[in-house]
Amino acid sequence: MVFSDFSIRLTALFLVLACGLTTGSLQAQRVLGERPVKERIERDVKHAMQSVTTRECYDHISWLADDLREGRLSGTSGALDSADYIQKEFKNLGLLPGGVDGDWYQSFIIPGRTGARGPLSSGNRLRFKVSENATRSVQLSFSEEFLPHPFSPDADLEAECSFLLFSGQPADQVTRDPLAGRLAVMPVDSVMNDADLREACKEVQARGGLGILLIGEGASPLDNEEWPPSTGQAGESLPIPVVRVFGSGPLKLWKISGRPERSWKFQSDADGPLLMGRPLVDLEVRRQGRDLSQGRNVIAKFLGSDPSLRSEYIVIGAHYDHVGRTGMDGSQGEIHNGADDNATGVAALLEIAEAYSLARLRPKRSLIFIAFDAEELGLHGSGAFVASSGFDPSTLHGMINLDMIGRNDVKTVKVGRRTSDQVLGSIIEKSASILKLNIDEEGMEPLLGRSDQAPFLRAGIPSVFFFGGFHDDYHKPTDDIELVKVEKVCNVTRLAFLTSWFLANDTESQPREASGQ
Ligand SMILES: [Zn+2]
Repeated sequence: MVFSDFSIRLTALFLVLACGLTTGSLQAQRVLGERPVKERIERDVKHAMQSVTTRECYDHISWLADDLREGRLSGTSGALDSADYIQKEFKNLGLLPGGVDGDWYQSFIIPGRTGARGPLSSGNRLRFKVSENATRSVQLSFSEEFLPHPFSPDADLEAECSFLLFSGQPADQVTRDPLAGRLAVMPVDSVMNDADLREACKEVQARGGLGILLIGEGASPLDNEEWPPSTGQAGESLPIPVVRVFGSGPLKLWKISGRPERSWKFQSDADGPLLMGRPLVDLEVRRQGRDLSQGRNVIAKFLGSDPSLRSEYIVIGAHYDHVGRTGMDGSQGEIHNGADDNATGVAALLEIAEAYSLARLRPKRSLIFIAFDAEELGLHGSGAFVASSGFDPSTLHGMINLDMIGRNDVKTVKVGRRTSDQVLGSIIEKSASILKLNIDEEGMEPLLGRSDQAPFLRAGIPSVFFFGGFHDDYHKPTDDIELVKVEKVCNVTRLAFLTSWFLANDTESQPREASGQ
């Protein structure tokens, strides 16, 4: 949730649970006046809902709230990696891309961030992967294990590599030059002088090479080296990216290549440059840090079954960005992992998508699953979606937002909505009754403008904000997974899933006028 100076810090309300409720049964009795009313859900809906598990919620949260994501500040590699993770999940579930022109992403400019640059450690990246489809990679530490050469141009590429024993080493005339289309891995025992390095770059470039990784003793940064060099010291840019790998970095490279350095040297001495096979190298050089002005929503679609209603949508959304290392007073410090805010909401989003897709459960209306970017910077992702996603707001039948759903009482869900959205209100009540969860609407009115439901409400779309409540770790480095109650995440996810199901099949609502309210 976006931070507001005007917010009143809500103290967690201690709610007394109604006694005698158990979690197992899916039939609930709700007393309306004197007559008990039974709520039932169909078997396939129940099954789909039960595919939401604490285990899977935990896995998603722990990936997103890992230190490796560096707090998922919009525009940094931690946020970009998170977006890619979400996109891969959507794709693997068989959902359809929901952006314009069949894209999974909606890009937008984050207002007020023109010229803003991210930290160097996030804009400069060197990773080794075993193969294209490997989900895990070995990430080298910026300035401890690698540094771009001071005169390297900026780069963002993924490539195989080839071992080059020395600059000028000729390739076998018969076969294709192994350097072509690859990164040259070049061992250096001592620091190369500028003229030799430029010569090597020219040669590798002429042979179709994409860049050079200098490896070993001669690749270490000089004492008191300033990186990037101050403008006065900046020399002429090299023709291709050059990155130095040192410290424990080389060992990581050789290990993943499957052979020690001496073995590569020995064979290359006889056979010339060698295609290494692995690792696949993921390289990014941004000498001024990354441009932070670009935001990116991830959008997926799931088509409904009713020929007349499938052109209407229920939007299910959660923001994936967080604040990086920015404290509430604006200072830079420790990583804020944002486990509750909002890895929990994204876990819910992915689990709801999975519930529909695995069970092949098709509601009448279509669904849009969206992971918003730049929420913490002022609800920019949701604003961009409502303003220019290609979806006409008048086709949006309802919106469900999940933000910070993993703390406080596990059986109580805070719910924000407009009281005038009566059908939505009764659907939420019905869903909570089936799950034997308590709804708490107190104090939610002032929060309606502080998360991604806000632009949807402004466009007149019935929207609900599912929220787990504030806590002392809100926007602090201590918002970690250890403090998240995964059982609560699972409960709220199931509530949101049922709400989306009833809303997507709702035939009680009057056709909605697209009106700003
Ligand atoms: Zn927040």
